[in-house]
Amino acid sequence: MNARRPGALVGMLHDPRPSLRSTPIWRPRRVLVTASALAHRHGRSIAERAEAMGIAVERLHSDRLPVDRGEDARKAYARAKSTLAVVVAPPSKLRLQPIAPSADWRVDLAEGCPAHCSYCYLAGSLKGPPITRVYANLDEIVAALPAYLGQGAVTSRSAERAGEGTTFEASCYTDPLAIEPVTGSLSALISSFGRWEAPVQLRFTTKFASVDPLLDLDHRGRTRMRASLNPAAFARFEGGTSRVAERLQALRRIAEAGYPIGLTIAPIIAADGWQDAYGGLVGDIAAVLGDLPATADPTVELITHRYTPGSKAVLDSWYPGSDLDMSADRRREKRTRFGAVKQVYDAPTMGALKRFIETEIAARLPAMRILYWT
Ligand code: SF4
Repeated sequence: MNARRPGALVGMLHDPRPSLRSTPIWRPRRVLVTASALAHRHGRSIAERAEAMGIAVERLHSDRLPVDRGEDARKAYARAKSTLAVVVAPPSKLRLQPIAPSADWRVDLAEGCPAHCSYCYLAGSLKGPPITRVYANLDEIVAALPAYLGQGAVTSRSAERAGEGTTFEASCYTDPLAIEPVTGSLSALISSFGRWEAPVQLRFTTKFASVDPLLDLDHRGRTRMRASLNPAAFARFEGGTSRVAERLQALRRIAEAGYPIGLTIAPIIAADGWQDAYGGLVGDIAAVLGDLPATADPTVELITHRYTPGSKAVLDSWYPGSDLDMSADRRREKRTRFGAVKQVYDAPTMGALKRFIETEIAARLPAMRILYWT
């Protein structure tokens, strides 16, 4: 295992924000625990963790959340984003859904995220104010997984990715590391995959860097952490997340702790200066992750920016000052197999992005395996 420490590289990275001061971990202002959630061991444990962090916990007498739908939309948004609700996942969450091209199945620990990304993919799927709801019935969620062993259509059926086993993606409706300090859910899930003697892999991607609680877990190499990255020059689109330099350092520490790792370069944005920005990002990655332990098996996932009419309307209301381009310029419609319409980049823009970024990765990150471009 390589023991090189990445700290000395921080100053080399192209992040315009002041360096060295760590992004603080998230502390919700308000923690609500529903009556049903309190009946679950994990629900009570989250309440106790929050109280140990000095956060007052409101134990509710019912399962109805006191949601603020006040007149001032900005304040309601800010209050929702700083609230953690501990709830019981509905039965539908225990019936897993496929999640190509990332993984065979989706496993949800929570719904919602405290960060403020102006492209957030959750905007089209969350209903109501963006409170983060974490699931108390983690034991039931974990117990549902074995029924899906060997059943997926992505890694379970792919010659190239068969070595990953049956894969379960935990980042579809939340950033699980963002909420880990107060929930402990991710550590519990990683440990349960460590105990699961089967060809399986838990996957999560994150824009956060607080990996300390994960380093000493008995993960047995059955969890792959990916850092979700964009050039530091585009940091204005990723409010409330950890700096890119911190995310890269965190990924290196996780690799040194024996986890397989990956990069999710997402969402790839064709904003002015994107060639320099993504070229700089690939250089920064190479500087920190150029020599990794063999267990790291680094992969790359490349996801371009897209939005739906519904997510655009929500994001326009949440982030009215954002200069993220969601106009029709250089876009085309793409229809999903469920009939929904997404705006993706048009063919010339998509082709230019793909050629440039894949060429940079091949030249400067030759050990990294590209899993897909979308
Ligand atoms: S970190 Fe991810 S989930 Fe959280 S706001 Fe940003 S894009 Fe959304």
